[in-house]
Amino acid sequence: NNALSIQGLRKVYSNGHEALKGISLDVEQGDFFALLGPNGAGKSTTLGIVSSLVSKTSGRVKIFDYDIDTDLVKAKMQLGVVPQEFNFNQFEKVFDIVVTQAGYYGIPAEQAKQSAEKYLKKLGLWDKRDVASRLLSGGMKRRLMIARALVHEPRILILDEPTAGVDIELRRSMWEFMKELNEQQGTTIILTTHYLEEAESLCRNIAIIDQGKILANTSKKKLLSNL
Ligand code: ADP
Ligand code: ADP
Repeated sequence: NNALSIQGLRKVYSNGHEALKGISLDVEQGDFFALLGPNGAGKSTTLGIVSSLVSKTSGRVKIFDYDIDTDLVKAKMQLGVVPQEFNFNQFEKVFDIVVTQAGYYGIPAEQAKQSAEKYLKKLGLWDKRDVASRLLSGGMKRRLMIARALVHEPRILILDEPTAGVDIELRRSMWEFMKELNEQQGTTIILTTHYLEEAESLCRNIAIIDQGKILANTSKKKLLSNL
């Protein structure tokens, strides 16, 4: 059973740049998957299309049984998305940011509050719940992005370069958190990275992308034995 299935995905940006040249990719349910590649390879474009933040030129994307062309709302319900840029309201309080997000998924208020509490506690942000988000440190903002992405308990968590520019201590604790989520809740994790080390230490399967093409798509074991 695939959590994500991408077929022949192409993206030509409006300036004519072909960022994805017809890529295909499957991610199994329960996998911990890395899309590894250098800057400009097409990683963010791929995740952007999967999470419908970026339009595609052609190709198919299915999230579990839901095609994003025909079942977009259901497809989006399955996903928690952590983009690279902080994009929450800087003046809103931490707790409210997470609860508001739950509202977008139609989660009743009481349940939204409970879920927000659960994830803010897990991510060590509960004592900051009444603080405006702009007053948080960079590391706390990262964790807030993750709490917000998880509030509707998605089956897939997508993270775009989650540890870029993050200090080693926070990087380790984010790795631990993602591992736990994958192992204990069975959440499928898909992340992009340009650190081989990160893909290597965390992920079960890895696809390598460069210049809009998939160069390899394999288990970590096989990949490393071929290097
Ligand atoms: P779409 O095809 O998804 O509608 P566009 O091609 O219109 O996207 O571009 C979206 C935005 O990204 C534009 O404001 C554009 O200026 C900006 N942009 C252009 N080139 C780049 C680039 N190389 N990297 C990141 N953003 C860019
Ligand atoms: P990665 O995430 O692997 O660094 P991206 O998906 O951000 O790569 O970008 C892939 C390619 O598409 C790059 O050459 C980038 O400059 C270009 N690109 C990204 N966004 C836009 C845009 N909005 N308009 C035009 N080109 C873009």
